[in-house]
Amino acid sequence: MTSQTHGLVCAHHHLYSSLARGMPAGGVAADFLAILKTVWWRLDIALDLDIIYWSAALGAAEAVMSGTTAIIDHHESPTAIEGSLDAIAAGCALVGVRTNLCYGVTDRWGNDQSLMPVGTTPQSMTDGARRGLQECDRYLSTGATGMVGVHAAFTCSDETLEAAADLALRHNTGVHIHVAEGDADANASMRLQSLASESWLLAHCVYLDQDMPGTIVHNARSNMNNAVGYAYPAKKNNRIVLGTDGIGADMQEEARLAYARLRESDISQTPDTVWQWLQNAEQIFPEVCKDTVTWNYGDIDSPWHSAFTTTSAVSDVAIGGVPIVVDSQLVSCDLGEIRAKAAEATQRLFGRL
Ligand SMILES: [Zn+2]
Repeated sequence: MTSQTHGLVCAHHHLYSSLARGMPAGGVAADFLAILKTVWWRLDIALDLDIIYWSAALGAAEAVMSGTTAIIDHHESPTAIEGSLDAIAAGCALVGVRTNLCYGVTDRWGNDQSLMPVGTTPQSMTDGARRGLQECDRYLSTGATGMVGVHAAFTCSDETLEAAADLALRHNTGVHIHVAEGDADANASMRLQSLASESWLLAHCVYLDQDMPGTIVHNARSNMNNAVGYAYPAKKNNRIVLGTDGIGADMQEEARLAYARLRESDISQTPDTVWQWLQNAEQIFPEVCKDTVTWNYGDIDSPWHSAFTTTSAVSDVAIGGVPIVVDSQLVSCDLGEIRAKAAEATQRLFGRL
């Protein structure tokens, strides 16, 4: 027995994290901010365009083999900004996955390359943020699908937040931003309220204390991994979609975990709630309706079956009618080469940490 669905969407990914698995530890983190400093801000500053390309290709290959045909990525590489979105697009094009890309601007690195002091808010736009906005502007001007990225309100000046919102308006798109992921960003909604619109993509929203417009991306596994608390998306009025925050792109798996976490907080909930979040992604990435995913399980489109079938697997994927996975094998490109090149890039990356 098999069944077929549309392509799935990972609505918040960080493809540059594909090579982070197994990275040298930077010490035991005491809280979420420490995780950012000892893992992600240490990693992103060591990226170069070649590493970004192979990281994207590996992440895209793993995504499509899980039935995910569209990736909404949020990227940061402070020492390799210009051309970074082209590198991600090329890595994903090698595999054949659909993308929506952005560069996530931030003022956390001052013009003298010092990290902003804890507990302070940057006062004006830095050179790094200006270059990040230019990268978004350049990429969107080519006609490619994307958004304007912002890391998070707490690492940005008001000047940068306003410029990002303005740039998104000019390109008729939204801003893709982490919102209230940890308590350090708890006042995000206050600072973003007057800028946000329904076209914005709001990742996490764990500490969101007032309504704000936009689609909320729930990242259940990442939130649990970072111990930031439960976002309780079912209590929010916004459209909810699912992301992985860079921990792979297996959306059936992510939905199962999101269901378990939801149910832990409310026994009256059913899997329909979470499978609706999975379906909602077709509203923000409708092209996936042209994609087909064949599963080795006959009732994958039943929420009650999917929630409790941990062995469902993808056999075939076609994107826009083009076969990408056939009999569980990637046929659009050489997976062995991607893995080998990604491993080489990983060695170079880890050597810089
Ligand atoms: Zn994220």
